[in-house]
Amino acid sequence: MSTPPLTTLNDEEQMFRDSVRRFARERIGPHVRAMDDAAAFRKDLLGEMFELGLMGIEIPEEFGGQGGSFFLSVLAIEAIAEVDPAAAVIVDVQNTIVNNVLIRWGTPEQKAKYLPRLASDTVGAFALSEAGSGSDAFALSTRAVRNGNEFRLSGRKLWITNAAEAGVYLVFANANPEAGHKGITCFIVERDTPGFQVGKKEDKLGIRASSTCELILDDCPVPAANVLGELGKGYKVAIETLNEGRIGIGAQMVGLAQGALDHSLSYARQRKQFGQAIAEFQGIQFELARMATAAEAARLLVYNAARMRDASVPFVTEAAMAKLYSSEIAESNASRAVEVFGGVGFTKDYPVEKLYRDAKIGRIYEGTTNMQMLTIAKQLLGR
Ligand SMILES: Cc1cc2nc3c(=O)[nH]c(=O)nc-3n(C[C@H](O)[C@H](O)[C@H](O)COP(=O)(O)OP(=O)(O)OC[C@H]3O[C@@H](n4cnc5c(N)ncnc54)[C@H](O)[C@@H]3O)c2cc1C
Repeated sequence: MSTPPLTTLNDEEQMFRDSVRRFARERIGPHVRAMDDAAAFRKDLLGEMFELGLMGIEIPEEFGGQGGSFFLSVLAIEAIAEVDPAAAVIVDVQNTIVNNVLIRWGTPEQKAKYLPRLASDTVGAFALSEAGSGSDAFALSTRAVRNGNEFRLSGRKLWITNAAEAGVYLVFANANPEAGHKGITCFIVERDTPGFQVGKKEDKLGIRASSTCELILDDCPVPAANVLGELGKGYKVAIETLNEGRIGIGAQMVGLAQGALDHSLSYARQRKQFGQAIAEFQGIQFELARMATAAEAARLLVYNAARMRDASVPFVTEAAMAKLYSSEIAESNASRAVEVFGGVGFTKDYPVEKLYRDAKIGRIYEGTTNMQMLTIAKQLLGR
């Protein structure tokens, strides 16, 4: 049997992608502008995403999930991002990060307790970054002090996606600072834990409907049973999760790049200047051709990395390349789209200015562009 082309979808993948695309266009689409203005994601849409199984794509069926592949998560993120990159990151963090950590590192008890909730009604968040530790993530200063059968967590987390809506937080804290990064441990923290508080919500340039907040932990008691993965192995949980997660960010950026192209195509066909549609001008055609080629090239990188991950072959460099490139071309496609629209592209009456703002985050979160290049260079130089 010959190997199918990378972008060829099997029946399950095709049906799933089509249904997510329909949901995104029909249900999310009409609210994108208002949610961006309000900097808030609608609760009813979140509920619909749970009902459609979009918040538990890889969660095994025995825990109420879809029992799907990582590649299906990537398809969902891409399809939603074509319409709204902010909605896409909510689904992205839940599936490629939070659910993934529990599926991979959770004990049978932790899986039985948390996966059914994450698949049905509970948003999750991943809390690694702090004010003083971003790219240098393991310099984190949140501390966990053992106290009998529990740990007491104290510190502050910053930039936590989904924090406003979440019920469960994966919080990284150092339980043995003398051991350096080998003291870092991942804890499952529930929202109603005493001493735990969701702090200031950031007022952002883009993906405004996705919440990004500070977390405050003040002597927060967390049962020892909520250590996720081994004590002192949190750095491994974080690195390996983010290695996968950034393929999801690549998918978000591919969807955004495609959305920018789709809007440009339809506008170029109907906007007339000099007595004809601007799509008739070669200058505009060349812009569209470049945008389509960039989106396709990025898609190939993302699909390849995702399929490598599902095939359990090493994918770290490919994932870094996928995220690096997709975030670059998302920005350039969104910029070109604003220009294809001309003056109206610069206003909030049309959707492309939002894509231009949304694109910027792709080069920052889950490892900045520089950090992706360091990963790729390390592999090139055999370090
Ligand atoms: C909207 C949003 C959502 C986020 N969501 C989450 C989340 O859910 N969970 C979470 O834990 N974090 C989250 N983050 C945090 C995000 O991962 C960090 O912002 C990111 O890793 C960069 O860290 P920093 O902001 O501290 O920048 P810094 O690390 O201070 O970087 C500043 C600049 O210095 C460069 N730089 C730093 N070190 C090097 C180096 N060694 N070599 C070359 N250049 C370098 C960087 O590339 C960057 O250009 C989010 C951030 C944002 C803005």
